[in-house]
Parts: sequence; C-alpha cells; structure tokens
Amino acid sequence: MTLPQINNDYLIDFLVKLLNTPSPTGFAEQAIALVEKELSQFKQLKLTHTRKGALVAKWEGKSDSSPRALTAHVDTLGAMVRELKPSGRLAITRIGGLLLNAVETEGCWVFTSKGEKIRGSLLVNTASGHVYGPKASETKRDEEHMEIRLDAHTSSIQGSRVLGINVGDFVAFDPRVELTDGFVRSRHLDDKACVAILAAAIKTMVDSGLVPAQTVYFHFSNYEEVGHGAAAGIPADVHELVTVDMAAVGEGQESDEFHPSICLKDSGGPYHHGLSDKLRELADANGIVYKTDTYPNYGSDGEAFWHAGGDVAVALIGPGIDASHNYERTHTDALIATTQWILAYLLGD
Ligand SMILES: [Zn+2]
Repeated sequence: MTLPQINNDYLIDFLVKLLNTPSPTGFAEQAIALVEKELSQFKQLKLTHTRKGALVAKWEGKSDSSPRALTAHVDTLGAMVRELKPSGRLAITRIGGLLLNAVETEGCWVFTSKGEKIRGSLLVNTASGHVYGPKASETKRDEEHMEIRLDAHTSSIQGSRVLGINVGDFVAFDPRVELTDGFVRSRHLDDKACVAILAAAIKTMVDSGLVPAQTVYFHFSNYEEVGHGAAAGIPADVHELVTVDMAAVGEGQESDEFHPSICLKDSGGPYHHGLSDKLRELADANGIVYKTDTYPNYGSDGEAFWHAGGDVAVALIGPGIDASHNYERTHTDALIATTQWILAYLLGD
C-alpha cells in the first residue's frame, strides 16, 4: 500500500485558522463550528453533535464489522473572571492546567455574556519595575497575585460592570501563531494540531477517492482539558479508539518536535497493548518514523472514555509539542508524519 500525498498547505492553513479561533474549555462553540464548516464540504461524512457540544463525523467504510473512532480536542486552556476588583481590574480562575507564568503579559479577550469582547492583558499585580522594585520579579505568579488590566476606561467595580463584564465571563489568551521554516509556534497546538491533522487526513482520502477500510467516527471533543471530553460521544459499536493528542517533549522524553509518538503509558496507566502494537506495525510497514514514549503528567480523552465505562481498545498517538501548556512549538514534519500514520490506520484492515 502506498499512502496518498498529503496537502501540507491545507493542513497548515486550517491549523492557523483554528489556532486563531478562541476556544477555552466551556467556550469552544466557535471552534466546533469552524471544524463543522470545514468538514461539511466532504459529502462522505455524516455530521452530528453530542448534547454536550462535541462534533462527531461518521464515514461509512468498506466494512462495518469493527467500527473505529479517532478523537482530538478543540478546547484549550484559558480562564474565567473570578472577581471584579475595586481597581476595575479582574481576578481570574484558571481553566484546565493553565500555567500562569506562561501567560504573564499576554494579550487576552474577555467575552461578556452579552456577546461582546473586551481587550486586555494579564499582569502580575506588582508589575511596575519603578514602583515595586525587586517585588516585580519576586511576586508569586498565581491567581492571587495576577490580574487582567482592561484596555478600557475603568477604575472601579462599577466601571467594569458597565462594560458588561460579570463574574464567570470567559477569558482567552492570544495564541501568537508564527510560522518559520517549517516550525509552528503557538499556544494551543495541544490539541488543535491534531484536529487539523484529522481534517487533513479526511481531505487526503477524499481527494484521492479512497474509502476507510472500516466505518470510522471522528470525534471532536470540547471538554478534554478538564478531563471528561470524550466520556460521551463515542458510539457503543466502536471497537478501537485512537486518541490523537500531543506528545510530551522535554528532558527524559523520547518524543521530539519532528516525529509523531505513540504513548504507551501516562498518568492514567498503560494504553491498550494490542491496539498500540497494531499502530506500530502500521507505521513500520509504511516507513513512518515514530517515537515510543511514556508521559509523566498527562491524561487523555481516550482514558476519559475508559473511565466512563467505554469497552474499547484505546491507544494514543500525536506529534511532539515542545513546551506544552506553555508557549508551544512543533514542526511540520511531525504534523505530516502523524497524518500519514492516521491514513495508514484508516486504510488498513
Ligand atoms: Zn491535549
């Protein structure tokens, strides 16, 4: 079997669009809508929503003797307004495992319940070097000591309320997407990189006139970063669930930014041995170079489905992402190789 040619530009273009669509967990409707609009061009897919808001795309295969599913998540880290402060600034509560030091001084949008958005940035509350001296660097970067400074005329609780801001409003941080020499640098490559990979795999199949060997469901999750994304929405007849999510790069890890990885164990324990071996054999047979790894501080949507009682084999593959949950980076080589791996899986028996 020779794998069809992947359209790299399509993958990157769609990825950039997705990265620039704010989607903190709980506020991912716009990103789900973007994916839905993109996939609606492929008439082979039957698109439905779960009640929780995930998007599921079903593609009838040559056989439906053992249906498969792949999941990737559009939701990202972010924050919510916790308090309107007497200064007019906003205290926040984190959504998912947001690292506050990683978004210090970052631009952000506050989305009001009336559908408006207000610009601001996140700062430590001892930000001025001239005023606070050594405290500016010594203050702990946590929820108690960081705040959103709004780019609006407000210096009181009432002033911020008049802008339409309330406790519970969503906050999205700028992704700061940059493409240089094959590198993709942005926040939230976890897991938008893999959503774009799934779209690119589907497009490649459609453009090449190919049909999946088995009926397959593509599940686009909207609550992964808080641990229960794919707990619902994977149909009961599915035999195998391949979670497509970032590989953890750092000291002691095999994963890197230029290859996909298969994760054999993370914080939730080992993945399914048989399905993991099957994916490794498929990669080997198709000349796809990958890393095997374990991730020390990591949970996945595949495990969320397991915890919800899903009786299915689960495996985890994905491109290496440097500085995950921080200012992330990967390389196009890893994105393309992961897409090839998924094509091999979709086409394989
Ligand atoms: Zn993820």
